[in-house]
Amino acid sequence: MAELHGISLNGHLTAMRSELESLESLYGFAVKKMYSGAENFDFSVRFHDKPAATPIGPAAGPHSQMVQNILLSFLGGSRIIELKTVQILDELEIPRPCIDMRNIGFNVEWSQEMKLADSYREYVTAWVLLHLLRESELLGIAKTDAFYDTIFDMSVGYDLRGIRSEPIHEWISNMLDGSQLIEGLLHSLPQEWSDLRNLDVPARVSESVTLSTFHGCPPQEIEGMVRHLIETYRVHVIVKMNPTLAGFEYVRDMLHNRLGYRHIELDKKAFEDDLQFTDAIPMLRRLQQVASDHGVHFGAKFTNTLVVRNTENIFKEKVQYLSGVPLHVISMNLMLKVREEMGAGFPVSFSAGIDKNNVVDALLCNMVPVTTCTDLLKKGGYTRLPAYLGNLKSVMEKNGVRDLQALIKLTGGSNDLALAGMNNARRLIPALQENERYHFKKNQSLPRKIGSQLKLFDCITCNICLPVCPNAANFNFPMPPVTLDLPLYRIEGKELTRIGTELFETQKDGQIANLADFCNDCGNCDTFCPEDGGPFNEKPRFFFSETSYRKNDGRNAFLITKSNKIEAVLGGKAYRLELLSETFIFSNGNVELELDEKGNCLNWKWLSGRKQSVDISLIPFASMRQILLGILNAPAGYAITLLRKK
Ligand code: SF4
Ligand code: SF4
Repeated sequence: MAELHGISLNGHLTAMRSELESLESLYGFAVKKMYSGAENFDFSVRFHDKPAATPIGPAAGPHSQMVQNILLSFLGGSRIIELKTVQILDELEIPRPCIDMRNIGFNVEWSQEMKLADSYREYVTAWVLLHLLRESELLGIAKTDAFYDTIFDMSVGYDLRGIRSEPIHEWISNMLDGSQLIEGLLHSLPQEWSDLRNLDVPARVSESVTLSTFHGCPPQEIEGMVRHLIETYRVHVIVKMNPTLAGFEYVRDMLHNRLGYRHIELDKKAFEDDLQFTDAIPMLRRLQQVASDHGVHFGAKFTNTLVVRNTENIFKEKVQYLSGVPLHVISMNLMLKVREEMGAGFPVSFSAGIDKNNVVDALLCNMVPVTTCTDLLKKGGYTRLPAYLGNLKSVMEKNGVRDLQALIKLTGGSNDLALAGMNNARRLIPALQENERYHFKKNQSLPRKIGSQLKLFDCITCNICLPVCPNAANFNFPMPPVTLDLPLYRIEGKELTRIGTELFETQKDGQIANLADFCNDCGNCDTFCPEDGGPFNEKPRFFFSETSYRKNDGRNAFLITKSNKIEAVLGGKAYRLELLSETFIFSNGNVELELDEKGNCLNWKWLSGRKQSVDISLIPFASMRQILLGILNAPAGYAITLLRKK
């Protein structure tokens, strides 16, 4: 399985600054498309008594796992970041692919794919980086502006034993007081950023938890986990509800009869094993009391994904988890049903099929935060986020109000925010099932495929694979087209002879590549790439470090070791190339050749191995040379800066 490796705070800062200067973008997100606030409009909310500049954010998942993901979420306008769920088992083998976003959305994703300590480092690095972004005013927005107000919300799972374990205890304790790591990170800033070393970054990285429970988790265990979190850490807790809480008959009727997704097979047993509505309400009331006794907040999130049988051929597992538009209707109705029992003021957050078209209605129901995931895995990725807030602004303008709370009160016909939210929910939610945009007949189209196979170089260069990657692992770089008739050599003993030629040709001005240390083989770029094979499989895959490179699985692996040196593994064979002033030193492990730019051999020698007859193709030489020269001459985007660092 592909391993994720984060990079240092300094690496991010340097890459961000150089990309801003050379391309006016950050991690590929163009500055002119980023969320830049909305003058005279206030989208702010309070989440657990803390201010957040907007009410939206990524749901715990692929958009909140690594530093660049969190930054990209922020740049799109997210201000409540539900960090990817952590749990005690941090060496899980997650099946690949794990995301199927061809239309409505399925996944077999789980918790964090990094070690607990590495996840902690990623989250704290992102926390510090956001504060540095504010202090340095790199985005051109004054540091005093509430625009930056951002909340990190922990997400932990999945059972009481795991949550009580020492590693999770240490992890949560560190998130509650990250002063040591924050100090170390600030101290590591290089001289050019030394004025920021004494920046006051809050040590409390997060003070709330959204709890994720496993399917079939007994009610007493859910209650035990919430109690443990509140009583041990005095943190605010939101418990994520499973959509099975709506009941098998209700979900079947909604999914199959009203929305038309008859092909999706439900598992009745999963509904029977999960928390039942009659148990849930008393449990939520008891936990509200526990929270109140400890001076913290308690609420519920609607919802987790819905477990269904796997009837597609994307994943290997027997079950898969449904997200997207059908889940939106089920989860909104479930939220209303629970709130009718718990009261209008019961704190609720939301995630299920949220996109720019329904986010405003979800906000009108007074849910905080409203989070998103499936939509951000579609074409455009994080750049889809600013439209959420653009639509919120339009609705505010239309209603002649300037802040979100006033909008909720006005549309909900009450000066009591909670009541107004409830009124809106009662008005808006029953109508959802009639809206055709949630129906199967409107959600059947698949991403376009054109029937061609990706190769190492050249493709239709549509660049779709760049923003759909939640980890910003795909990038493009200029590489001038070239046609070369390369010599094919044979070496026998001490003799080198030219036995023919091979054509090396690239036709496009730009090439696509992948940052293997940021890529977890989730498969999402393959889904949206019009060609077959998957960019993350077929394109050059760059590793940042020797350590991760040495673990490569033989798929198009590249490592730039110095500004004039590159290594590669192509077709399972290892190669090295060094650029000298006018010639190149190329080796395939047992023979080293000095070549001119056309591949003519000037010198050669055996390195090791049995000195017998060997044919030497120079296609790897030309591939490595073109890539290295392309990277060295490219504008300093984040990927290029990180790769050229040596
Ligand atoms: S490059 Fe593709 S496979 Fe890799 S993490 Fe990104 S979307 Fe997933
Ligand atoms: S790899 Fe696929 S998605 Fe990426 S630019 Fe090429 S054709 Fe487009």
